[in-house]
Amino acid sequence: MGEIQNYIGGRWVPASTGRTFEDLNPATGETVATVAASSSEDVDRAVRAARSAFEQWRKYPAPKRGEILYAVGQLLKERKEQIARLMTQEMGKVLLEARGDVQEGIDMAFYVAGEGRRLFGVTTPSEMPDKFQMAVRDPVGVVAAITPWNFPMAIPTWKLMPALVAGNTVVFKPASDTPATAAELVRIFEEAGLPEGVLNFVTGGGPEVGDALLHHPDVDIVSFTGSTETGARVVAETAGKNKKISLEMGGKNAIMVMEDADLDLAVEGIIWSAFGTTGQRCTAASRLIVHRDVEKPLVEKLLERTSRLRLGNGLDESTDVGPVINERQRRRIHEYTQIGVREGARLLVGGEIPTGDGLSRGYFYAPTLFADVRPGMRIAQEEIFGPVLSILSVGDLDEAIRVNNSTKYGLSSSIYTRDVNRAFRAMRDVTTGILYVNAGTIGAEVHLPFGGTRGTGNGHREGAVWTALDVFTEWKAIYVDYSGRLQRAQIDQFNP
Ligand code: NAP
Repeated sequence: MGEIQNYIGGRWVPASTGRTFEDLNPATGETVATVAASSSEDVDRAVRAARSAFEQWRKYPAPKRGEILYAVGQLLKERKEQIARLMTQEMGKVLLEARGDVQEGIDMAFYVAGEGRRLFGVTTPSEMPDKFQMAVRDPVGVVAAITPWNFPMAIPTWKLMPALVAGNTVVFKPASDTPATAAELVRIFEEAGLPEGVLNFVTGGGPEVGDALLHHPDVDIVSFTGSTETGARVVAETAGKNKKISLEMGGKNAIMVMEDADLDLAVEGIIWSAFGTTGQRCTAASRLIVHRDVEKPLVEKLLERTSRLRLGNGLDESTDVGPVINERQRRRIHEYTQIGVREGARLLVGGEIPTGDGLSRGYFYAPTLFADVRPGMRIAQEEIFGPVLSILSVGDLDEAIRVNNSTKYGLSSSIYTRDVNRAFRAMRDVTTGILYVNAGTIGAEVHLPFGGTRGTGNGHREGAVWTALDVFTEWKAIYVDYSGRLQRAQIDQFNP
């Protein structure tokens, strides 16, 4: 892969610091690329490039903006396998899931491309005669897009594509663990014909590049996805600066299994949601809330399936679970399993760093199940972001929903039941932004709103373009009076 540079004003350039850092493969410890370690000076150049491109880009016909996204979708489709392999090397998820991550970017490109021919506004009648009125969407201006490493293609496309189709210009700061996949996306935008300065790319650490974006006076909107802790910093650092802020943050998602559920189906969904992406999805299931009548058979099935999961390099098609992202995260996961044991939860399997063949150089962690977890325990409340599932037992649906709703996060939930009444009560009473019925907590499609309540978000939704546009546009109300006389709203009453 070689060296990854910044992309500013249509040119690939090194960081002004002259420094680089290493992008490492979490399965092998090998270097994937060296990456520009940028500073606030690079951020300033990128924001200035975005600002000066904005005037032309906002006037570029929206259907033509959409056509560029369509070309991006085509290129992503052609390079899907190559990008997926790079992603697996860079952040560890198994190839099957890396392909899915790129596919989400492809879906987003084709979906949002069509928005160039919609970008619908609103017309409404006036209370006055001979007067026309409407509301149209205007771009906000310069967008700072700050993204995490766990979906290195999908999440940037959720931000960049709606932002660009609406006529904004962008400075994109990828996670420092996944700059190579992000750079591939930027190259594709360049190849698809995006004009210079419309999309800029600056790599480097959160405290340097991210923080400089938060403080830059010419950034109009910050679209952030990452942890709730960093999200809180985004809010604090931008307070009083009049920037629009959109936050997508952590989760503590639960699967509820009722006593009438199809247990084999539930086991499939639980394994996929808890250990897919090594438990590092914002929507990963980290709690299983099970009716006590079926807890024993369900846990037996889960234990059997969990102990059969194969750990290894995600490039090996027989691997079920890849490494976690880095040593810091592995330490954090291990600390949490020790906390669980100290809190009195019963460790059923895992809770350790595995030592099998080919695992010693990577950051692997054994898929872990805890039973006898109580709702107030830290392992039932805090986001661990690893392959750790806490099992809580309950006596009925009301208790299941109460426990489900009782964390500071509100992203995704799921219920397994064959009773339509229970399913509808869950649909009414669950307070997360996403709910699945008879499926796990993961698997969002791009054209529905994606995001969560409480500590997961600040009321915005990405994904569905109509909700994403509420982030990336401002409404402008326009009144056209063609009566030829002064008509005063609320004062001159219409008198036929
Ligand atoms: P993170 O540590 O919060 O980092 C997210 C982004 O913020 C990275 O680009 C990071 O840069 C940057 N950053 C760090 N410190 C910053 C600062 N002081 N100012 C500005 N930017 C800063 O999160 P992560 O570990 O990458 O991702 C995992 C988290 O994301 C989990 O909590 C997960 O639940 C959440 N997530 C949420 C969603 C959702 O849609 N709700 C989706 C995916 C992930 P560096 O990489 O350089 O540190």
